[in-house]
Amino acid sequence: MKKVMNLIREEMDAIGGQEFHLPALNPIELWEKTGRVEAFGDTMFHIKNRPLVLAPTHEEVIGWIAASHIESYKDLPQIWYQIQTKFRNEPRPRSGVLRGRQFIMKDSYSLDSSWEELDKSYDLHADAYKRIFNRAGLKYFIVGASSGAMGGSGSQEFMVESDSGEDTCAVCEKCGYAANIEVASSNIPKLTRVTDSLQLKEIHTPNVKTIDELKAFLKVDEKLLAKSLVYMQDRSPVLILMVGNDQLNESKIQSVLGANARPVHPDELAELTGADAGSIGPIGLKGFKIIADKRLEGANNLISGMNKNDYHIGNIDLLRDVKLDAYYDLRTVEAGEPCSKCNEPLRVVNAIELGHIFKLGTKYSDALHAMFLDENGEMKPIIMGSYGIGVERIIACNIEQNHDKFGIIWGKAVTPYHVHLVLVNANVDSVIKVAEEIYERLAKHNVEVLFDDRKNVSPGFKFKDADLLGMPLQIIVGEKNIVNGKVEVKDRKTGERQVIEMREVVEYIKKYYEMN
Ligand code: ATP
Ligand code: MG
Repeated sequence: MKKVMNLIREEMDAIGGQEFHLPALNPIELWEKTGRVEAFGDTMFHIKNRPLVLAPTHEEVIGWIAASHIESYKDLPQIWYQIQTKFRNEPRPRSGVLRGRQFIMKDSYSLDSSWEELDKSYDLHADAYKRIFNRAGLKYFIVGASSGAMGGSGSQEFMVESDSGEDTCAVCEKCGYAANIEVASSNIPKLTRVTDSLQLKEIHTPNVKTIDELKAFLKVDEKLLAKSLVYMQDRSPVLILMVGNDQLNESKIQSVLGANARPVHPDELAELTGADAGSIGPIGLKGFKIIADKRLEGANNLISGMNKNDYHIGNIDLLRDVKLDAYYDLRTVEAGEPCSKCNEPLRVVNAIELGHIFKLGTKYSDALHAMFLDENGEMKPIIMGSYGIGVERIIACNIEQNHDKFGIIWGKAVTPYHVHLVLVNANVDSVIKVAEEIYERLAKHNVEVLFDDRKNVSPGFKFKDADLLGMPLQIIVGEKNIVNGKVEVKDRKTGERQVIEMREVVEYIKKYYEMN
């Protein structure tokens, strides 16, 4: 953990970051000002006997500090960061350290005087993140992401492909397009408008509810079936039209209708339309806003529910028969669909989110009055960005990507110790003495050593443990070699063994790590 934190610290300092240590206990008042007591809801821990919360992130505190310390454009830009414990009452904590209710985050915040300057701070972070993950030895990819409850404009996530990941991403092997499924789009063809729009007709469809049932019953192409879903936006119903079995994307619909929009309850639906979920459609609805997925733009001769159980309507022409509010990209991309950039089939993979960078804008500075005087003496809100990295996740992903059947294989930059010193014959005084001498000598030269000097453990167990713990180099001190003034060195990754002169040990390790 310390190694990873230091690596992050070096790269954050290198882009001009200033390290803070902010309180984890926050006055709830700050969070009320930005409306995020509600936005976080049950995910934020509240203190029972004080008006305090445990911070899940620190935009509020940073905004508050900026409000009292930043006065003019001359005080900007700033990058403020910390590496600190965060608390989130995750509904489903899992996979060990990948999703905990308490975890360590490097979070940083940029404060700028213009959007152009924000772009610069954002790019500095993107570059620093690449360096951090490269140095940590991780294979990762970057995706365009949804800004979700944070608000703001641009946002990207750093992802590691993994079956245990809880994020889903669409990636193109050919052109490198990659996006979180929350925002991914593809070149799946639109419906084609046919020349003749036929007359609306009523179709009796007894007990037919799902798109698959309807398709089988009518023996028609799924693309002609317009699925209707109903959401509540505050108190108003919204009808959403999708093609056949296309999946409505929860995060896309939220960015269109707002975070509080929700699927309608069955009883509300019956009251609003007189029909059940399988029989809803866009014709004859009153008081509904109607929106549709872009694939349906201008389509005709569609079949949809009739707002009467057991009936559907055929030959719907969206231009002629429906008063549509707007078309949006609302569907979830599926594996194999053509890439929106190069038309190659997309892969859909699970991934672990390692880091996230956001252009926040002025949401928090507005709410907390974090203002500055610009060159013309005008008061303006500070433009903010926010950037996070999960420290435990770096370690977990590192192990996931760098191990074999014997255990962990640490990379040079994040290994807990440089060498694992294995004392083989721990009951022979002469061997103990030599091993201790080596240990002292290495320590003097700033080599970090994990010294296995356990007495009642067999050599076989020690070797297994050394492989399991995975330090890149093992130095094995045994009776056989020390009589010749030698020790054995094992490279954990390649398994290569070498017998070297005892007096060359320090040099050997320094060369391996390129240390001075
Ligand atoms: P997720 O989507 O996985 O819940 P998030 O988008 O809520 O994460 P951010 O608010 O962007 O997370 O936090 C920044 C980083 O902190 C994430 O990229 C991730 O590496 C890490 N992180 C977030 N939540 C957790 C958690 N519960 N346990 C461990 N690390 C976490
Ligand atoms: Mg995130």
